[in-house]
Amino acid sequence: MLKKFILIIFIFIINLFNWAGAAEVYKINSVHFDNSDNIIFLASQSKVQYINVKSMKLAAPNRLLFDIDNSVLTRPNSSWTFKNSDIQQVKVSQFTTNPNVVRVVITYNKDFKADKVRIHKVDNNLVISYNKNVFPQSDLRNVYNDEKSANNYYEYTTFSEDEKPAAAADKTQTAGEVVAVQKAFNSKGELVKPDASKIAINSAPVSKLKSVFYVNKIDIKRGNALIRGTGSIGIEKPFVVKEPDRLVFDLPNTYVAQEIRNKEYVLSEKETIKIGQFEPTKARIVVTTTEPDKYRPIYSYDSQSIFLAHDSRILGLTFYDKTSAIYSYSAKKNNDTTDTLTFTFTQPIVHSIKKLNNVLEINLYNCSGFNHEAYKKNLSSEVFAKLRTEALPTYGIKLIIPIKNTTVVDYKQSFDNKQLSLKLTTPKDSEINKTGPLFIKRNPNVRTIVIDPGHGGSDVGATREGVYEKDITLDISKRLAKILDKKGYNVLMIRDKDETVSLQDRVKYTEENHGDLFVSIHVNSSVTPEGVGLETHYFTDQSYEFAQIVHKEFANAIKSKDRGLFKSRFYVIKNTTCPSILVETGFISNPEERKELMTSERKQKTAEAIAKGIQKYLGKE
Ligand SMILES: [Zn+2]
Repeated sequence: MLKKFILIIFIFIINLFNWAGAAEVYKINSVHFDNSDNIIFLASQSKVQYINVKSMKLAAPNRLLFDIDNSVLTRPNSSWTFKNSDIQQVKVSQFTTNPNVVRVVITYNKDFKADKVRIHKVDNNLVISYNKNVFPQSDLRNVYNDEKSANNYYEYTTFSEDEKPAAAADKTQTAGEVVAVQKAFNSKGELVKPDASKIAINSAPVSKLKSVFYVNKIDIKRGNALIRGTGSIGIEKPFVVKEPDRLVFDLPNTYVAQEIRNKEYVLSEKETIKIGQFEPTKARIVVTTTEPDKYRPIYSYDSQSIFLAHDSRILGLTFYDKTSAIYSYSAKKNNDTTDTLTFTFTQPIVHSIKKLNNVLEINLYNCSGFNHEAYKKNLSSEVFAKLRTEALPTYGIKLIIPIKNTTVVDYKQSFDNKQLSLKLTTPKDSEINKTGPLFIKRNPNVRTIVIDPGHGGSDVGATREGVYEKDITLDISKRLAKILDKKGYNVLMIRDKDETVSLQDRVKYTEENHGDLFVSIHVNSSVTPEGVGLETHYFTDQSYEFAQIVHKEFANAIKSKDRGLFKSRFYVIKNTTCPSILVETGFISNPEERKELMTSERKQKTAEAIAKGIQKYLGKE
């Protein structure tokens, strides 16, 4: 028997405009594989106009290959081997010298989502990354800044997928496969003309760069870390990872200087801190500590540094030069559940913010008092009436705002750090206490359709500009449930309100209730705003036809890019036994599509199209 190689070829040709102009050899000066297993970073000083990367996916063993054309590795070949990891090995080597090709090979096991691998160019560097959700989110200090600015790097994810039969040989790889790859390249891998629409992305507005932060220095002061750089710093989604205990902060739009990247700094006998480039535009700070809740990030008055401080070690430290900044309040009730509080200061404020279970704590370190008149004016605000202040041990004021533990806090600071704005959203008790799925009607003679609104509760899903994936998925799901219910199906919803449901429970619920079909509703996102369109995912063979039929209806009904069908290992569609699909209803990260997704028209159309697909699949239409 001939060993059969299934060869899937992904080809992305990266055509990038760089300011320097003429093409030259791309010299790779350093190679780095992030120990969080998430990125391979190839750093270069070469200002090349284009970088062409050919990329392939091979089977037995499973490998991804990236060939970087016209490139030279100016350091020794590198290789990392891992045990108990989805990635088993990463190798970077000079593959050929005439022509110059550097090859990156990622060997992975079956659990690795190879299709999630993305390649980016960031300045002169190439970054191969993949999204692996290994970190559970925690409610700890659930404060963040929305990522507002356009990214000044580009993602190449336009995979063209082809299945080609295997053919002939190479010295570095197992004989048959590589030649097959080369052959496939010869037939399909020629340099593709740059796509005009992709080139256009390169003219990212420079003004947006204001919020980009370049970190280049970490100083340790009495067991606290001062993280400094240039630009405007922001923090997103702090969370805790277990075993060993680590506190993790992501900094959006942040680049980390090579010199400090992944260097470990000692905070105390048992505590360390390091900062890495987690994603092309996102830095990650990891503090190894058994007391993650003791840390708080303190923003400097110029926004150009944060002091990551341990509560019991900051006594007696001075964070500011100026002694006073009087501030004023304003409060706005947006609706029944949401309040916005804005604090305006006369001087840029050195501050920290921490969300505890039933209280929001804001420390203002260079503040001597507040504007009593402005404060009184706002006493009609329920939230402000409850606000109290305390003096900080050395100097400054602590603001304490009672909240519920269900309150979601959205926090923003102005670029000049003279204004802090908090949006507090507290779901009504009635909404929280209402129990049981919306539609439970069981008739053993009709089909049971399980609808799974993606995310919920503390898992908000993708978010942009204060819009949460979890809300859109719930809304579409409710509409879909209503339509299917009217058609007489048994409709079960995994959640019918804003609550956290684990992936395991979603599957368990579907199995226990003997779902005949499973539909998971999601909203997509991409790190760049350009990603747009509709996707339907399936995993098991028996789900393929279901996915195909629903996707056709869906893609026909919605005016957006049809990105097609994907075979993906999403937990919920991989582990349910009935035909199961996951529909990505559009991109929250694309401003136009986000706007669309928020309209009831788009949501209703989406629900109707999916319902139509389900009916077609069940042979009712
Ligand atoms: Zn999702």
